[in-house]
Amino acid sequence: MNFIPARGFVLESRNFAEADKIVQLYTLSLGRIKAIVKGVRKPKSKLSSAIDLFTESSFSLHKKPSADLYVLSQAKVLNSYSELKKDFKTITALQVLADILVQSLHDTEPHPEVYSLLRETLSAMNRDNSGLESLLASFGLKFLDLLGYPLELTACVECETPLLRKKAYLIPHRGGALCEDCCPTGPSRLKVSPVELEVLKKLWTLPMEKVHILKMKPAFSRGILLTVLEYLERTVERKLKTVEYYLSVSEKI
Ligand SMILES: [Zn+2]
Repeated sequence: MNFIPARGFVLESRNFAEADKIVQLYTLSLGRIKAIVKGVRKPKSKLSSAIDLFTESSFSLHKKPSADLYVLSQAKVLNSYSELKKDFKTITALQVLADILVQSLHDTEPHPEVYSLLRETLSAMNRDNSGLESLLASFGLKFLDLLGYPLELTACVECETPLLRKKAYLIPHRGGALCEDCCPTGPSRLKVSPVELEVLKKLWTLPMEKVHILKMKPAFSRGILLTVLEYLERTVERKLKTVEYYLSVSEKI
């Protein structure tokens, strides 16, 4: 049997049969794949820590040509991002991050830049989770750009009028923001205030490890995050099922 080495993260897992799990992995070399982990729910399994949500591990996989699923037979933890797993709100935010990747990435398309962005995002969150929502919004903007959906925020994409100190509108698949004069009416547009537009620009351009320098009130950063997530949902045309749950959890804490 030919074993395939792959470095990656677990995005989702669900129980299967008596002691197995089926996991979705995001790997550097194989993109998003599904694998079965046999016997992982038995008490003595050595694989359980490697398949925690967003633990980065090196996996050993194999697959028959006719099979849909890989078989994950060995794993070694590279980075457990343990600080992120201590707090329920942070774990729920990680589920939103996983949802973004699951809904937007097509199977078996490796994307090394997205992989690097994900590592930078997790490292920044692991260092300091106080700006979690800004980091998630920054990830969303950078991720869309890497997927080929750039977001021009400096000038109107239609008439090129500078958008500084103006409100703007985001409409999916237009390549950026539109000024008020160029924006058609309709339910797909997202209105952004001049301050929000400036913050979106910074979240998009600042390196992940610098995002924490942007200090925002919680309600403001929440609004920014929801705008980014809604724009992302409309762009990739998939619903993020975890957002509502995240909001219900994070409002209580
Ligand atoms: Zn315009």
